[in-house]
Amino acid sequence: MENQVQPENITNQLLNVFNYAFVESAPYSFFVPKKEKYVAVHVTKKIYTCLACTRQIEVKYHEAGVVYFSKDRFEKQRAVYEKKGLPFLDEKDLQAEKEFIYQETGYCEQCAPELLLTGDVKQKIYNICQEIHKEDEFLLVAAKVCMEEQLKKWLKTITNSSQLIQYDLSSYNGLKDLVCAAILDDTTGVEHCLISYKNKTEKMIADTEQLLRTMPAKWSIYAAKSTAIYESMSDEVYHEYTVVFPEKNTIPQDFFINRVIEKIRIEMFLKQNRIFSVEQLMLEAGFETAWLDLLIDHIATFEK
Ligand SMILES: [Zn+2]
Repeated sequence: MENQVQPENITNQLLNVFNYAFVESAPYSFFVPKKEKYVAVHVTKKIYTCLACTRQIEVKYHEAGVVYFSKDRFEKQRAVYEKKGLPFLDEKDLQAEKEFIYQETGYCEQCAPELLLTGDVKQKIYNICQEIHKEDEFLLVAAKVCMEEQLKKWLKTITNSSQLIQYDLSSYNGLKDLVCAAILDDTTGVEHCLISYKNKTEKMIADTEQLLRTMPAKWSIYAAKSTAIYESMSDEVYHEYTVVFPEKNTIPQDFFINRVIEKIRIEMFLKQNRIFSVEQLMLEAGFETAWLDLLIDHIATFEK
């Protein structure tokens, strides 16, 4: 429950590995894009079209000059444009840095659950991993709620300032120590969160490992990607030259696109260290400054 944020804590690391396996798989690499391999494109926005309901989602990109598409990715876009019967950029357009709209097809977050909840093992493995990922992320939220509940419960037992005589209530650290002591006074709530998380995730991990046994090294599925997240226009690498960022006010929505996933990365995600103790959980959940306010407001009620 220390206040400092650890850059490589367990939950951050899990998120990184999940993204590596299922979201943005291109590794970071420093390079200068060469003409033979890349095409400089002035991309301004992306239009997602749902294959089921035909709904379109438009996402404006933050513009910072041209972006480098790998030739492979650029040719894929050409094929999409041809399929849609839309005019594609020619050499002249590229030279003139004519605005380009990236076209993506897949399934929107309304259609995806129904369509992708199939018995197909390939998709099922991804679906379970996504559930595990949600549990990994939700655990910290749930723990924080429990910690706050415990603090409130404890504050109810404090009705007189004399009960707090051994604490230094004039300093930030003193107040923080008191909040931590109050939360540590009863950790049953947090323990229950952890037990429930472990029961759910251990079962899902075991199921996925079982399913993985007969799978090939890689296969393709529909995987969710937030419309508000950055994207590399090269499948092999990501770098400032190849990356586009949606505008800051983009409302995040999951859009499911066809992509290749690798068994080795999924195994890495499943085998990754997960939170196993109450202490660890509280440390990862972190400290909320709002808790200090709860304490200060409470003290103020009997100081009048
Ligand atoms: Zn749809």
